[in-house]
Amino acid sequence: MSAVWIEPPETPGRPGRIERETHKLEKRLCRLMGQAIADYRMVEEGDKVMCCLSGGKDSYAMLDILLKMQQRAPVRFDIVAVNLDQKQPGFPAHVLPEYLGRIGVPFHIENQDTYSIVKDKIPEGKTMCSLCSRLRRGILYRVAGELGATKIALGHHRDDILQTLFLNMFFGGKLKGMPPKLVSDDGRHIVIRPLAYVAEKDLVRWAAHRQFPIIPCTLCGSQENLQRKQVAAMLQEWERKHPGRLENMFSALQNVVPSHLADTAHYDFKGLQATGVPSEDGDKAFDPPEFPASPAAPGLQIVSL
Ligand code: SF4
Repeated sequence: MSAVWIEPPETPGRPGRIERETHKLEKRLCRLMGQAIADYRMVEEGDKVMCCLSGGKDSYAMLDILLKMQQRAPVRFDIVAVNLDQKQPGFPAHVLPEYLGRIGVPFHIENQDTYSIVKDKIPEGKTMCSLCSRLRRGILYRVAGELGATKIALGHHRDDILQTLFLNMFFGGKLKGMPPKLVSDDGRHIVIRPLAYVAEKDLVRWAAHRQFPIIPCTLCGSQENLQRKQVAAMLQEWERKHPGRLENMFSALQNVVPSHLADTAHYDFKGLQATGVPSEDGDKAFDPPEFPASPAAPGLQIVSL
């Protein structure tokens, strides 16, 4: 736990700086999750939300904040926490049941030895993640059906979404991110990402504050995804040099202008006709684009060619 979280209050009887910061962080997490839930109508009256827990900081935080939201939400919904024990060597199987029992959340632990299947099928030294994820996905969908869950909640956050966007651009040639809400590939479930607006650094701080019993994610021995790590480092470097850039990039995902991209499937460029009517908001093709000097994006410079 970082020292910043264990400083005593500055004045006896008055909340200290750390308490105030923690309170602000909690409010921000609740506000951002509430906003995402509302914007995408992620949770509705009578839903049973299956929270997928891996034992990492993100899924712990998702469950933690969702439980707070449950108390104050305008709709009634149930939560069931689910962990898939994939039988990785050294997986501390007691940690999640103990934690979930302690906080009093209904939960289900699904035991499936996908580790052995993956080890058996994938040659030594090759990455196991795609088969492992496919197996995990299928199992979680089945469990969601068995538990009567109407929504499956995953703990991906804003930075995961942006990393995926860049990975798809760099290596997949697609402008495609990771949606806050989607229909599962088997067509039977709605998957939601209630942390879609939350920055990873806030989850790191929240996990430290709440002292979640984190289970390391290296137990399977698979190579870490190097490309994702590189993209994550690139984004963090941009954010360090230009604070607010990640937030702006996420906003861009919510403000797509198909007429100003180049995908003929999403905009009828071939059928484009002059309207003959001037428009104040029309495109000024010969002028350089203008950008507000936003304090959220200091240092933003657009060079016109
Ligand atoms: S890191 Fe390990 S547990 Fe995670 S998807 Fe890859 S193989 Fe599976």
